[in-house]
Amino acid sequence: MPPRPNSVEARDVAHHLHPYTNARRHEEIGPIVMAKGDGVYVEDIDGKRYIEAMAGLWSVAVGFSEQRLVDAAARQMAQLPYYHSFTHKTHAPVVDLAEKLIALAPVPMSKVHFTNSGSEANDLIVKLLRYRSNALGEPARKTIISRLRGYHGVTLASASLTGLPNNHASFDLPGEGVVHTMCPHYWREGEAGESEEAFAARCAAELRATIEARGPETIAAFIAEPVMGAGGVVVPPPTYWAEIKAVLADYPDILFVADEVICGFGRTGEMFGSTYYGLEPDIMTVSKALSSSYLPISAVLMNEKVYGPIAEESARIGTFGHGFTASGHPVAAAVALENLAIIEERGLVANARERGERLQSGLRTLSGHPLVGEVRGIGLIAGVELVTDKEKKIAVQPPGALAAKAFGLIQERGVISRAIGDTLAFCPPLIITDDQIDTVVATVRDGLDALA
Ligand code: PLP
Repeated sequence: MPPRPNSVEARDVAHHLHPYTNARRHEEIGPIVMAKGDGVYVEDIDGKRYIEAMAGLWSVAVGFSEQRLVDAAARQMAQLPYYHSFTHKTHAPVVDLAEKLIALAPVPMSKVHFTNSGSEANDLIVKLLRYRSNALGEPARKTIISRLRGYHGVTLASASLTGLPNNHASFDLPGEGVVHTMCPHYWREGEAGESEEAFAARCAAELRATIEARGPETIAAFIAEPVMGAGGVVVPPPTYWAEIKAVLADYPDILFVADEVICGFGRTGEMFGSTYYGLEPDIMTVSKALSSSYLPISAVLMNEKVYGPIAEESARIGTFGHGFTASGHPVAAAVALENLAIIEERGLVANARERGERLQSGLRTLSGHPLVGEVRGIGLIAGVELVTDKEKKIAVQPPGALAAKAFGLIQERGVISRAIGDTLAFCPPLIITDDQIDTVVATVRDGLDALA
């Protein structure tokens, strides 16, 4: 139905180009206008309530109505609403947050640099790696290996790292210096008769072959999400990370970057995805659950191997020529600190682990449904990949049409998921309860039944 004249919906259609939206389709159907949030729920302007089973965009760890975050923001607004960190200036919230992140990190980290989005953080990583290689007198070492289906953002550099066709098509991407290797999606990419272990070994062999084909001296880093999110919730086979670590161990000059933008701060049932898999990143990107996305903030954590040469190079040039007006914004930093305190005080990482078991087992009860190809996930992140032909693992054309329909039916019934290709993604706030999980699962089943 087209939006009513002069409604918020109509004015939105008139003036707003939405991210990740088919603009012409939006003109036809208009938006859903959200009015408020409360715990795991959001409510639209017509008073319809939804369980936000995606925590917004994999973000709102502590729920939608956390007064402590509002108070932390108000206090900091009143005290020092803005200051920057350029040229030797600082303020307490940014110092406290840097210190806190280093304390939480799963491996020894040396410094934290603040940015405002996951994309900016990953964009900076491309620049940091170039800067560092130049500092080390290794100008040829600039290529970054990323993975197909990996998601690292949408700026020119971070979208190049991203391994998804829609982020490249018509933007003339990926750009120079990025090469993509295999996605560890066994159910989709495993060959007939290939075991999960053999598939994981093949992924690692391809990484090694890519390094060797390009020349190890040209590779600056390998970047990966511990569990892929926006690529369709891809949980790697159990032996995958050990295999990848073994390859990287043979090339000590190639750095490992963990993109923890989704996994960070409890999502997997551990504080970081790197903790879950025993990864030892040289660089980590965090955002989203860092502030529960109440305010935009992201950070790049780096170890001494990364920081040392960068500091030297900045001394040689006279400055580290990078930074945003809002880098380490005091209000965002204060909110992030309070948010991390809540995650710790309320045991939300443990809640993600415990409630995660219920979400995973609940969704797996859908495995026998005629439209469900695979259910996968860990902790409070899950994907349900839909098919119309289980044996051939294919869905109706065009790609994504089936999940889009299922998504709509489930949303009508009061649960917001996310359709990624033909996968429905779930990533609820870490405060979710067993009852709310049961409602999510029952609603998904109901929506799928309506489609079958
Ligand atoms: N990295 C990962 C793993 C993400 O999931 C995302 C966003 O979903 C990003 C980076 C980009 O973050 P942002 O949307 O804040 O730019």
